Amino acid sequence: MKLTSDSRPIGILGHPIAHSLSPTIHNAAFVRTGLPYVYIACDVVEGDIEAAVRGLGALGFRGANVTLPHKNAVLAFMDELTPPAKATRAVNTIICDRTADGTVRFTGDNTDVAGFVGSLDSMRSRVDDRPALVLGAGGAARAVVYALATTLHASSITVAARDERKAQWVHEGLVDARPATVIPYSEVPSAIAESNFVINTTPLGMHPHADRTPVADPSVFTADHVVYDLIYRPRRTQLLKEAEARGAVVVDGSEMLILQAAAAFERWTGTPMPIDHVREVIGID
Ligand code: NAP
Repeated sequence: MKLTSDSRPIGILGHPIAHSLSPTIHNAAFVRTGLPYVYIACDVVEGDIEAAVRGLGALGFRGANVTLPHKNAVLAFMDELTPPAKATRAVNTIICDRTADGTVRFTGDNTDVAGFVGSLDSMRSRVDDRPALVLGAGGAARAVVYALATTLHASSITVAARDERKAQWVHEGLVDARPATVIPYSEVPSAIAESNFVINTTPLGMHPHADRTPVADPSVFTADHVVYDLIYRPRRTQLLKEAEARGAVVVDGSEMLILQAAAAFERWTGTPMPIDHVREVIGID
């Protein structure tokens, strides 16, 4: 990748942003493909998010990723939302298109949904049409619940939240015809016993607190469970280690991270991301 005056910027808007892997992922893909883009991390504090989005258009950005704490706030500045972004009320990818009259149109997408679904490709027979339990009720949980409802056809969806009021979105049209319940963490052990597919969307167990886990008593896991942790650093979280020790099939968040990036890359460039190359470059451990 040779940076010239024709190179178009793409950014990630978040705060804090210093530890994001997205610049490494996308710049590796731009170098490999020779496409004329460069990806930069933009540390944007809450009060500056509208100016930052408008600035993408003014500065000729092709688009941006959006991460904490802005995934919901940017909705207000989009001209159009894709169905996953609209349903989840969360945008992780912005596409900027300049129209014939010179104005810029912003499309908001949520590629976490495609990333989550894609990462389960090899085990759909073990997770489709099963009762699913989601730990946590934040932005990533919405993407997971939407995927469970629309693509994986979960037979029931249970969301465990430490503050049940923050999970009321579960009852606001996101899962439509699926039976969906919100429970407190105290009911997690019995909910695990009744679910085949357990997905952690809380940050419990993430570096540098790798000794933490959202499931205090792992003896509830059996060989009938598929346990998915959205955390990718470390790849084997305490939760996954303990579930695996009891025979469960475990999945870490690294493939979702790569596949949500691949979906965004393709939206911006019209070209598939060289996924194997990116996997090699980031070598998450
Ligand atoms: P978020 O919006 O902040 O949501 C986090 C959720 O976890 C909230 O429901 C929060 O509850 C809950 N939580 C936080 N600390 C907790 C604790 N000590 N005990 C119980 N619950 C707790 O964050 P997010 O964007 O959804 O991201 C969540 C995780 O997913 C992060 O680890 C992130 O790195 C990961 N993620 C991975 C990918 C991927 O591609 N692999 C994509 C997106 C996110 P409160 O609302 O009560 O605080």
